[in-house]
Amino acid sequence: MTLDIQQMKARLEEKQVELQTQLSGLTEAYPAPVGPVEASEGPQDFEEVAVDFLETQHEQSIMVNEQALLTEVQDALKRIEQGTYGKCVICGQEIPEKRLEAIPWAARCVKDEEQLEQRNLSQEELYNTNTY
Ligand SMILES: [Zn+2]
Repeated sequence: MTLDIQQMKARLEEKQVELQTQLSGLTEAYPAPVGPVEASEGPQDFEEVAVDFLETQHEQSIMVNEQALLTEVQDALKRIEQGTYGKCVICGQEIPEKRLEAIPWAARCVKDEEQLEQRNLSQEELYNTNTY
């Protein structure tokens, strides 16, 4: 059975629109703080400010994740155009169909993905060690 590129493309385009919609919604919900105008409204409850800050941080981390995913989806669409879709960007081997069914924007085979994750993990460990 060969991979249905047209179907994968449709799924990727759908995902792209979904992410773009979510990202524009988040940007509207959390515009840049206006500062002086808010300050003129009098002293704000510190706890309230802290909670707002945490919520904004949380939304921002979602935005960062969705932005990263959007980039992966767009890269996958580029690979379809270039005719390299379905091949691992590291070793060039074909990515198993099952994997692409689950993650249409997958850029790496399982082996290279695991290696990348391990590298990221060891970087985190390094970072944590430096913090203490
Ligand atoms: Zn690979």
